[in-house]
Amino acid sequence: MLEKFYPDLQADRVQDIDLDFLVKNNIKGLILDIDNTLVPEHVEEADENTIAWIDKVRKMGFRVCIVSNASEKRVIKFNNKLNVDFIHRASKPSCKSFVKAMEIMNTKASETAVIGDQIFTDIYGGNKVDMFTILVTPIDKREYFLSD
Ligand SMILES: [Mg+2]
Repeated sequence: MLEKFYPDLQADRVQDIDLDFLVKNNIKGLILDIDNTLVPEHVEEADENTIAWIDKVRKMGFRVCIVSNASEKRVIKFNNKLNVDFIHRASKPSCKSFVKAMEIMNTKASETAVIGDQIFTDIYGGNKVDMFTILVTPIDKREYFLSD
């Protein structure tokens, strides 16, 4: 039971994730959280760093799907410059949206990684469906420590 709360991998930021390691482990699809994973909650649109990183992972051949518990309005505005598939109001850690994301990306659970900042939604949800799970440090925490 408890192991469902442990990520397979941890990174400070999404940009620090070893993408070659994911390729070697046959990961083909990435499920992405938005808030505090890609940008802080108060940032409405994808920033330059996010746009560049998404561009890089897609060029490497990864399929990408945003799975967010946020509203449709929030997710559409954020996705405006990215144009990736997305599921809003995902009710993570419910399995339903993760399964739907796999259908969209046409990946199996063993080929799919969940990237998020929350243990009880992103990591627990991903582990429940046997995906590879990656926990990043929540951006607001990082900003807090940096400004300290
Ligand atoms: Mg989050």
